[in-house]
Amino acid sequence: MSVVVQDRSRDPLSESGHSTTLRALLIEPRILRRVIRLDRHLAGLGLAVPHANCYVIERARLLAYADFEELELPLTAELPRDVVLIAKIGDEEVSRRSKLARYRQQLFHALVHLELQKKLSRVSVADDIARGKWERIGSVEHQEIHTVLLKDGLLFSESNPLETYIEFVAVYLELRYFAPEHLAAYFPAIRDWSAIDRLVSQDINHADIYQSSLREFADVSGRVSESSRESMSVTTVRRTSGAWRIRTRQLPTRARRASSVGNSVRAAILWTLETATGDGTLATSPPAAAVQEINQFVCRLQPALQLNNEQVSEWIDSLTPLLVPAASDI
Ligand SMILES: [Zn+2]
Repeated sequence: MSVVVQDRSRDPLSESGHSTTLRALLIEPRILRRVIRLDRHLAGLGLAVPHANCYVIERARLLAYADFEELELPLTAELPRDVVLIAKIGDEEVSRRSKLARYRQQLFHALVHLELQKKLSRVSVADDIARGKWERIGSVEHQEIHTVLLKDGLLFSESNPLETYIEFVAVYLELRYFAPEHLAAYFPAIRDWSAIDRLVSQDINHADIYQSSLREFADVSGRVSESSRESMSVTTVRRTSGAWRIRTRQLPTRARRASSVGNSVRAAILWTLETATGDGTLATSPPAAAVQEINQFVCRLQPALQLNNEQVSEWIDSLTPLLVPAASDI
C-alpha cells in the first residue's frame, strides 16, 4: 500500500470523502533517490541525494523515472499533475507514533513547496521577487540560511535564490508548526521572526496549508503500518559481509518488457543492473542496450519538449552518466 493522501481539492466528491485522485505517495527511499537523481541530473556514485525525504514532481516526469509497480500503484490509479513523494521510514527506525509525526511534517513541508512552486511558476519575475525577499531578509542572514540548508542536505548545489527562498520558507514553516522551540537555534542570525512571518505570509497562506495537511493526513494514519510491512521490490540488494548481493529475476527479460511498454528509463536501469558482477559491483559505464534506451526515451520526449537536435544530444549526454548511480540505489 503506497497511496497515502487523496487530492480532495481536485475532486467534486470531496465533500463526501469519495476522492479518487492521488496526490501524495509513500514510496521506498531508494526509488525516491533514483527519481531525484534523474530529475535533478545528479551524477556521481555515492553522492548524497539532497531532499531525499520528500519531493514534489510533475506526473509526467515521475512516470518517466519510475513505473506504477515501483510506486506500488494499481494500474487504474490516477495521478494529478503534481505529485508529492514521501520516503517510507523503516519499522526498525522509529516507533509508529514517531513515524506518523515525521510523515505529517514531510507532507506539510512538501505542500509548502507545491504551493510556492505553483504560485511563483506563474510569475515571470519570480527570480526578481526572490532577490527582493533576500534583500529584505538581509545578506548575512541569507548567507547563513544558505549554508545551513546546504549542510543539512536540503538544497541542490546549483540552487538559485528562488529555490533557496522556497526551501527556507518550507523549513521555517515546518519548524514554526512542529518544533518552534528549535527555530532560533536553527537560524541564529535571524532576530526578528515576526518580520520573517510577515514576509512569508505575503506568498503563502500557511495556516490553510497546515489545516489542509492535517485533514489529508487523517487518511494516512490507518495505513502506515500496513504500508511499511509490505514488500514491493522486484530487485533486492542487500549488503552481506561487506559485499553487495544482488538477487535478480531475469533482468534481460524484464528490461525488454519495460522497453516494450515504453518505460525506457526503467529498461535502461535494468540493463545497467545486468552488468553487476558477483559481488554486486556495477560496470563504470552503462551498456549499449541501456544507452539505446536513453536515446529512445529522449527522442520520444523531443516533440513534447520541442527539443532541437543539439538539445537532444545534450539530454542524452546528461542522462547517460546517471544510469550507474541510479542503478546503484536499487
Ligand atoms: Zn524542502
